[in-house]
Amino acid sequence: MLARLCLVLLVFVLAVPANAEHYFVRNQNEYAHALTQIEAGDVIILANGEWRDFELVITGEGRPGAPITVISEEAGKVFLTGQSSLRIGGEHILVTGLVFKDGYSPRGEVISFRRTKQDQARNSRVTEVVVDNFSKPDRYESDYWVGMYGSNNRFDHNHLVGKTNKGVTLAVRLDSEESRENGHLIDHNYFGPRPPLGSNGGETLRIGTSRYSMYNSNTTVENNVFDRTSGEVEIISSKSGENIFRGNLFLRAQGTLTLRHGDGNLVERNVFLGYGENHTGGIRVINRHQTVRGNYLEGLRGKAFSSALAVMNGVPNSPVNRYVEVDGAVIEHNTIVDSRRVAFNVGADEERSAPPLNSVFANNLLSGLEGESFVERYDDTSGIAFSDNRVLIGDVDEALLGFVQAPAEMQRAENGLLYPLDPALAQVGAPRDLEVLSLDSVGVKWYPKPGQEIAFGESGREISVAPGDGSLATALLSAEAGDVLVLEPGDYIVDRTMAIGSTIALRGKLVEGEELPRIMFARPTLFELRQGGNLQLKNLVIDGALTPDSVGNSMIRTTSFPIQSNMRIELDGVTVRDLMVNKSFNVLTLGKSAFANSISIRNSNFSNITGSIVSAAAETEDFGQYNVEYLDILDSNFAGIGGPIANIYRGGRDESTFGPYVKVLRNNLSDVGLAATNGTGGSIHLHGVQVAEIAENNVASSAPLRVVHTVGTPSTTISDNQFAETPDMLLEELNYDGPHRALLSGNVFAEGECE
Ligand code: CA
Repeated sequence: MLARLCLVLLVFVLAVPANAEHYFVRNQNEYAHALTQIEAGDVIILANGEWRDFELVITGEGRPGAPITVISEEAGKVFLTGQSSLRIGGEHILVTGLVFKDGYSPRGEVISFRRTKQDQARNSRVTEVVVDNFSKPDRYESDYWVGMYGSNNRFDHNHLVGKTNKGVTLAVRLDSEESRENGHLIDHNYFGPRPPLGSNGGETLRIGTSRYSMYNSNTTVENNVFDRTSGEVEIISSKSGENIFRGNLFLRAQGTLTLRHGDGNLVERNVFLGYGENHTGGIRVINRHQTVRGNYLEGLRGKAFSSALAVMNGVPNSPVNRYVEVDGAVIEHNTIVDSRRVAFNVGADEERSAPPLNSVFANNLLSGLEGESFVERYDDTSGIAFSDNRVLIGDVDEALLGFVQAPAEMQRAENGLLYPLDPALAQVGAPRDLEVLSLDSVGVKWYPKPGQEIAFGESGREISVAPGDGSLATALLSAEAGDVLVLEPGDYIVDRTMAIGSTIALRGKLVEGEELPRIMFARPTLFELRQGGNLQLKNLVIDGALTPDSVGNSMIRTTSFPIQSNMRIELDGVTVRDLMVNKSFNVLTLGKSAFANSISIRNSNFSNITGSIVSAAAETEDFGQYNVEYLDILDSNFAGIGGPIANIYRGGRDESTFGPYVKVLRNNLSDVGLAATNGTGGSIHLHGVQVAEIAENNVASSAPLRVVHTVGTPSTTISDNQFAETPDMLLEELNYDGPHRALLSGNVFAEGECE
């Protein structure tokens, strides 16, 4: 508040000529009228309240110390909703105090530092603005939330949370001459959670593009927080020269700060804290004359492209959109602790055959995971001078010299970071005076930063449901996020499709001597998952005997409207039977543009079902998009299933994402996947899955396992399964010459029944 008062005082008192005006406007007409009057030093004040479908445009000639200002009556009380956006042209413009929510931009950007291609903003500032879940409804319709053009603009103390559609959250564009060497400052922003997109285009910040990467951008990115910004492998994609990334904090964020294109960038004094979460990474180095110094990285679990530090191989005479070799990199005085990987020559292959040149790697303090390989190299490292590096824990490739391997005691300092106690190590690793940004110091104070997602049952509220016709659907109408519907034993007839738009659990009550509650559904679909929907089913029987025949029957499906949220679906102790009314009746179907963060099936029984158990194969256009990040099928029984128990598809050659991950463990499959309508030909069909573990299953009289590897370095383990009267596995590689890379061990095929 104080800062805001100072800001207003500055505008009114200090800087403004005596004739400065202020215009208090209540609607879009009044705003448009004020816009025709404004001059340097004037202030337009937007009245508190909702401004629906407001395409706010501001332009004019402010002066140093006398900007043209658009400000809310009170910070955080002016809401731009519906189809709204902000465009800024002219110079010395200041915009502050707005909240974008409950809608999305009808344009390619929510906030644009240009009014038109000709009128780009200069010396202008956007501060204390919130963009909250202002995503286009279609996950794969692209936009930027912020597009920076022009020169010497500042974007600071803003709050950007929950982008779920494709496209960079904040893009600095270099596509006109006046927007190069721009001197923009991006500081003290809160970049809040951005869930995995499931395709390329989920970067939080991008500066430049490959096409203009030979130009310098001279953009400074300083003291921002990137909290769970896990959209894809690049959190930041620097695609231009002479940028500075300094003092930023990366929290639990999957991916890395990537120096993707462009030369002469500086990465210093940043802090990365992964807390041991999957794919949390650090810094990836490509191109010439990059400096990486004084950074602190802890608890990172990424490897390969998402290593704590990845120094890549390049492509000889690289085209602008591929990988320029590392030349003249200086990587020194960094601390990397409790992290999985530091790697050189990352991406080395036939095309990326140029190792780093003229580079220095010195005075780094490194500590990996006990008993694991830690510092790796995949090609020639003679172009890197290694000296005075210390490795405390973890193995180092024995061809790498310049590392002293010995443990050392570490202690947390006042700043919360680990430093060695031994004074002899005082000059190794990150500087002592690093500061870890607090969440209070970024974004705005008047808008809450998001906590964790709502868990099933979190509200603590239980709604008891008695058996009967329609009782369940009626009870569901009164349920709110985190509630549990508790079903008494008996039969439930459901004659409408039940929409799930929040986090809802249905649990059967366990009563001694009574059967589990049974749900009979009389529509083609029992549950339809909508925006915000997460569903848990526990201790229930679901029977499809009353269901009418319809195209695309599915016990659970996603709405045909695009869903922005990443769903969670759990089945535990559930029996599903008699989904037989047509030839491909699925249990769970994820449609196009639907993305589940996790699907878990355990301790459940499925029988007499004509279709698939989990169908997550709607993204067939081979853009690298897919439907589910984590799928677990554990300790369950499948008998008489026409389709595969899991049909997972991620096509194309894009390398921007991490999943899907699939675990199929300790299940019994009998007569699975043999229906003529099963186009996959498998009892389990995994196409383009990045990490798969199929182990300790009993498979009898079923179609073969089918695993197709596409892009990247997929990891598939198939072990200790028993097969009877089931053909040998079908394993294919689409983009890799050589034998299939799946690890096979301990699989037993009953004698004499198969090849
Ligand atoms: Ca990318």
